[in-house]
Amino acid sequence: MLPLHIDNDFSALGQRMYALAERLFPICRSITGNGLRETLRILQQEIPLELFEVPTGTPAFDWVVPREWNIRDAYIKNSRSEKIVDFQQNNLHVLNYSIPINTRMSLEELRPHLFTLPDKPEWIPYRTSYFNDNWGFCITHQQLEMMPDDDYEVVIDSSLEPGALSYGELTIPGESEEQVLLFAHCCHPSLANDNLSGIAVVVELAKMLSASSPRFTYRCIFAPGTIGCITWLSQNKPELSKVKLGLVAAVLGDLGQLTYKKTRAGETLIDRAALHILRHRNMTFTTLEFSPYGYDERQFASPGINLPVGRLTRTPNGKYPEYHTSADNMSLITPDALADSLTAYNEIITLIENNYVYQSNFPYCEPQLGKRGLYRTTGGHANAEQRELAMLWVLNQSDGQHDLLDIAERSDIPFATIASAATELAAADVIKKV
Ligand SMILES: [Zn+2]
Repeated sequence: MLPLHIDNDFSALGQRMYALAERLFPICRSITGNGLRETLRILQQEIPLELFEVPTGTPAFDWVVPREWNIRDAYIKNSRSEKIVDFQQNNLHVLNYSIPINTRMSLEELRPHLFTLPDKPEWIPYRTSYFNDNWGFCITHQQLEMMPDDDYEVVIDSSLEPGALSYGELTIPGESEEQVLLFAHCCHPSLANDNLSGIAVVVELAKMLSASSPRFTYRCIFAPGTIGCITWLSQNKPELSKVKLGLVAAVLGDLGQLTYKKTRAGETLIDRAALHILRHRNMTFTTLEFSPYGYDERQFASPGINLPVGRLTRTPNGKYPEYHTSADNMSLITPDALADSLTAYNEIITLIENNYVYQSNFPYCEPQLGKRGLYRTTGGHANAEQRELAMLWVLNQSDGQHDLLDIAERSDIPFATIASAATELAAADVIKKV
């Protein structure tokens, strides 16, 4: 049984994911605070997400949940009281996690607190200072070049106070207690591809899984990057032995090709499944070996956690020019790219759900398929040859040792064809599940 709705209209789902990203785009998120909370509450309108609040000061392995950051307003005014930089126009203008400030200063004094991209003079950079008390403004290089020496009024109306780190989680129970993790970071402010695209894809997967009766238990996690993932892992440590595999979902809305980053061990089920699906999609893709850099796959891969969690993105972090700038906006992502990413995730999950090991009930030579109506005596059946070849492969390899993915890989036949051949053979009592 295929668990997901493979007949879904993925193009309409692409529009729906885009609309969700568009709704979340204006919110000023961070690793804590009301923007993050509001984001999770909007996701609750889509899926029955449970919200968790981990108090400031809670230890998380070698880290501690930081003070909560909230921001109401921020601006720079010149001596004529004109706002020349305005947080209300773009929340990237504030160094994320800036401490409050309200003062006047010269350009020279202000300059070390201004961040620009000289190579991309029209874009605003995205910068953070989570674990180091600092304040600053991110502006276009063009803005900086137009700032004369002046007496500037500098205001950041923010607060850093004891509060909580918020994250959201939806568990979709399966027949098995074995868990599959789908993780999306949700701490970035107005940036579309990184990572509203990942959030939107996991929300849609959660809807599809909830509407089916999955074999495995799925945990869809929406948490801030790094500290949020570390906090989640420390809060869920006793449960981690149930995790079978997982995927980190990020950067899924751009026009680049899909990129799969392998797990730390490199040859686990999720690696084999993802790469099998990507190879059979007839679209170019990239495979990356594991490295302890990137998104939260590196936390799942730390030596004490060591879970088989891969990562599926389109163009990876840092490899597209708009990355972490104001140009990573709603025009960088498209409904079609989101739909294509969702399709790939759906196919990978469908594979994992249907990857069984079978044993032949007739291991002494080939069973006679014709008398069971499994072998076509005449043509006309579309793909009959491949279907029959798939049956022969399944029969040959069903020795209780090889899963269907092994058979698909060895035969170079798409998993879906192998799985449907196995279903037919099992229905005719020629093979049985181990
Ligand atoms: Zn990022």
